[in-house]
Amino acid sequence: MEIDLCQIYTCPRCRMETPHYLLVRREERVAISCSRCQTTSLLEAAELENHQAWWEAELEQILSGLEENGQDDEH
Ligand SMILES: [Zn+2]
Repeated sequence: MEIDLCQIYTCPRCRMETPHYLLVRREERVAISCSRCQTTSLLEAAELENHQAWWEAELEQILSGLEENGQDDEH
């Protein structure tokens, strides 16, 4: 699975979700750098993918909450 250049991850220094640049990927390990403070985090690729999926679900909820004024999407 490909990892985008910009990933949302919890920066230990900013203490919030920030966009991170992918610096390097070696097998199952990735190094990412916070776009705000440049702090580098080393973690497992699967962990980053999980976090990204969680974040996208969270974002979707926020966005659907914003659009929740009368209009209901039917599936
Ligand atoms: Zn940061």
